[in-house]
Amino acid sequence: MRTAEIRQRWLNYFEERGHAVVPSASLISPDPSLLFTVAGMVPFIPYMLGEQTPPWPRATSVQKCIRTGDIEEVGKTTRHGTFFQMNGNFSFGDYFKEQAITYAWDFITGSEEDGKLGFDPEKVWVTVYEDDDEAQQLWESIAGLPTERIQRRDKKDNYWHTGQPGPGGPCSEIYIDRGPEYGKEGGPVADEDRYLEIWNLVFMQYQLTNVTAKDKFDIVGPLKQHNIDTGLGLERVALLKQGVENMYEIDQVYPVIETAEKLSGKTYGSNGDDDVRFRVVADHVRSSLMLIGDGVRPSNEGRGYVLRRLMRRVIRAMRLLGVTEPVFPALIETSKNVMSESYSYLEENWANILQVAKAEEETFRRTLNAGLAILDSAVTEAKSSTAPKLTGEQAFQLHDTYGFPIDLTLEVAAEQGVAVDEKAFRSLMQEQRDRARADALAKKQGHGDISVYQDVVSALSAPVEFLGYTDAKAPA
Ligand code: ATP
Ligand code: MG
Ligand code: MG
Ligand code: MG
Repeated sequence: MRTAEIRQRWLNYFEERGHAVVPSASLISPDPSLLFTVAGMVPFIPYMLGEQTPPWPRATSVQKCIRTGDIEEVGKTTRHGTFFQMNGNFSFGDYFKEQAITYAWDFITGSEEDGKLGFDPEKVWVTVYEDDDEAQQLWESIAGLPTERIQRRDKKDNYWHTGQPGPGGPCSEIYIDRGPEYGKEGGPVADEDRYLEIWNLVFMQYQLTNVTAKDKFDIVGPLKQHNIDTGLGLERVALLKQGVENMYEIDQVYPVIETAEKLSGKTYGSNGDDDVRFRVVADHVRSSLMLIGDGVRPSNEGRGYVLRRLMRRVIRAMRLLGVTEPVFPALIETSKNVMSESYSYLEENWANILQVAKAEEETFRRTLNAGLAILDSAVTEAKSSTAPKLTGEQAFQLHDTYGFPIDLTLEVAAEQGVAVDEKAFRSLMQEQRDRARADALAKKQGHGDISVYQDVVSALSAPVEFLGYTDAKAPA
């Protein structure tokens, strides 16, 4: 079953059951507290909070999502993409737990001939929030699930919110058992590699504030109405239905791996480290395509920096696969060819998307060529000592002179088993900033000519500091 077909089955199923089909919103989050759209519910937050009247009591969508927080998982787990598509069905004060569970059970276990997914009911496991007896009983009565296949979990796993103040609530998750060759038995509590999470049903009932972690927040009070917010991972269902090992091998992603094989002359599946690189490439190329397609442009901050970093990781990974020639034109075109069935605007904007990707790759290649040679010799030198470590000065010089972001230095060094004195690097960065500020102040009090101000401005804007991957928007 092709990914585009699963998507269409989903939309048909919920449309037939009275849901308005709503097109995906942009990856640029319509909610101002988030940098990117991280889930299907994001465009509907005002309806859930009761701030706006929804035009329909129930809706369905297949939402484009970016979760930068999952970047380190990419290529290593079977199931995490930086970009993925979340199928959702939503009720705004209309149906609640019982109907949501009924739909979910029917859609996943109903027969393929009826337009559903046809999963074996014996392979289905679910989790419910620790005190949610109601959900437990509904799973027993609606699905006939035995008690041992309904597991309880605490806030860390079975309470959902965006990570920002807003709506939230307990949830119930659905897992498919991939069989003993994937890990130990005992359900998702025992092993999440074997039991693949495909669908989360969130019972949105509370307004949350002071959200500092998955399980740390305060409840302001109940929402005006009970809402349903669900999210089914389209790629995860696709990997199961297509009988492949992971989400990077599905029809919408794998062709990029094949193009990377052609470019590198290496074969996917023959070396563990290379395989991770192939998968990272396939994932990040697709995310880059979709971000550029939604109007994000490479830059040194915010969304643009996330895009820049994704693209740079692709180029680095391809270098490690032995390719020093430009890679983006071929890779991103392959990704566009497989994604445009679901996102036809990619064809319409193709010339522009390609141009953005090419220009960014050119910029980075210039930086890389200059800096890598220096970094490589510094790393080689460090390796000859007993506790190999790059000094803060070395990392700072790479940053200051060659525009090498610290995370890239860390990555290259780590690959060679070399540490970096990050603390010293950070304090040199701070000193530089303090110096620039002091200079600016001195010049303001004196009569410096205008070119000096130019220097100060570039000194202040030069540092490309990596502030970590967070989907949340930094406070202004
Ligand atoms: P996981 O525990 O596997 O990281 P999650 O609990 O963080 O997933 P939810 O926030 O519940 O995920 O999102 C709803 C659904 O979206 C998940 O059940 C999964 O099918 C899908 N999903 C979540 N994150 C990703 C991702 N990074 N890549 C692909 N699919 C994802
Ligand atoms: Mg997750
Ligand atoms: Mg989970
Ligand atoms: Mg989940």
